[in-house]
Amino acid sequence: MGKKMNSQPLGTFYRGGKTKIRREWRGLSDTWYDYKCWVKNWGAMVKFLAHPQSIKGFFRYRWMLEYAAAPDFIDRCTEGLRGTQLRMAHTEFDFIVTEITRSLKLLFRGDRNIGGDPKLSEKMIAFDENMMEQIMWGFPNLYGMCVQLYGSFALVALSREGAVRYIDRAEEFGITGDVCTMPKAELGLCIEDDMPLVGKCILHANTTCDSSLMGNGIEDWRYQLPSYTIACAERVVDDLTREYTAEEIRGAIRFIEEQTGEQWDWESYFHNMKLYNDETRSYLEILELNKTAYPQVPDNNYNLYRDLYYTRMLNAPSEAYREINRKIRDLMYQGYEKKALPCQEIRHRALIWGVQAEFYTNFSNWLLNCWGIVGITHMLNLTSTEIYADEDTPENREQAINDLADLYMKMIMRNRTEGGFSLGVDDVWRFCEEFNLDMIVMLEQMACKAVTTWHGIYEEEAAKRGIHVIWIPHALLDPRKADRQAMRDEVNRYMRTVLGEEPFDPSLETIEDQNAW
Ligand code: SF4
Repeated sequence: MGKKMNSQPLGTFYRGGKTKIRREWRGLSDTWYDYKCWVKNWGAMVKFLAHPQSIKGFFRYRWMLEYAAAPDFIDRCTEGLRGTQLRMAHTEFDFIVTEITRSLKLLFRGDRNIGGDPKLSEKMIAFDENMMEQIMWGFPNLYGMCVQLYGSFALVALSREGAVRYIDRAEEFGITGDVCTMPKAELGLCIEDDMPLVGKCILHANTTCDSSLMGNGIEDWRYQLPSYTIACAERVVDDLTREYTAEEIRGAIRFIEEQTGEQWDWESYFHNMKLYNDETRSYLEILELNKTAYPQVPDNNYNLYRDLYYTRMLNAPSEAYREINRKIRDLMYQGYEKKALPCQEIRHRALIWGVQAEFYTNFSNWLLNCWGIVGITHMLNLTSTEIYADEDTPENREQAINDLADLYMKMIMRNRTEGGFSLGVDDVWRFCEEFNLDMIVMLEQMACKAVTTWHGIYEEEAAKRGIHVIWIPHALLDPRKADRQAMRDEVNRYMRTVLGEEPFDPSLETIEDQNAW
């Protein structure tokens, strides 16, 4: 028990209940740091609930109950971490908690379901979950509110059972069992009337895929507001299709101007883009350092944050993101100078490919603690790394629309699942080589048709290159089709039978977390 990683059997903390039996002892300094973060997160949540409109929201929406799982979720996602790894993870999670509570408070203030301010609501544009918010950089007086985020992604990510009720409602409505659970949960939210009601109008993108297009139609049906869909071309590496998508972006800007009476603001757009480019530069440094023998920002402590900052779904100011990126970068270099490792010993450097089985599974962190498999990078992080035009000149005003088109076309999930063979398959081998990887952890989302069709090709090509592939079937938001222990068993079996390895921490092979959040 102590400062060193794997100094206590982490699996023994689970005893079949909702939460673990006690907090982890990590040595004085790390335990104290971790405890302060835990108190801080509870503080942010209590502060949020102290607002009368938040209390109304709490009693109005069923999914708000999942909110109570947030501290436990962060404990799970920081399990076993020490030093700079622990600090990096908490920096990101603290930011996410702070910004989600802030934006949720804003959403409830305008929510017509709970007597919110109609004038504030008129300043909001309702977004679907897969709609990136960068277009709002040109409208600093308006709010892009991702209305599905809170009920079907962010809070549901905290808890295993969060989406089950909504998935069942959608299936009772007639949607078949093999449809992706993400849009299905969104339909369930609409049927149950569990969506906050805000917005002057509604803006969609056709990302990520045909399944999520279904979700957009449902939102329109529920909201009955004027709507516009940015129909991004699916082939993301083609100048002609970018021009086509740029026209769609122009259409969306016109639509917002007509609906709200606001005018596109170039100064605000370029200011935000400048900060965004800084973030991209930090991210490129992260990728470079992860190619070395001492990777510092692995998948387990970065994936969720990168998803949120790339898409801007939290509605947080760009300055706040830049500050967090700066902190992560500083911690990363501190760890690198000390030659710190994310786990006791890096046994396998893995590419995590596919769509993750929601974050409640804490899967990437478990891979580290149990088997020493480090997710060096994740498919969902490998989106655009372009540096876009950020000076306000006449040429750049034209270029900026193309840049936005490029960003939207490379939206998380869709660029690799729907963007064609070169991005979905060929790039896998390129990343394995660039990052010096010996393993691919294939998160096989059963209903994600594009990726499942490539199963055989991945197998054949990996065998030719001598790369290990572990298949982890799952059903995204639905734990009943493949629960987290079933996912862990796939890895346990492969590691013992194919590679003949023993775990760092045998207590983690089978965990009694069937009832945990
Ligand atoms: S997981 Fe696959 S099927 Fe589901 S929304 Fe994403 S791309 Fe579409």
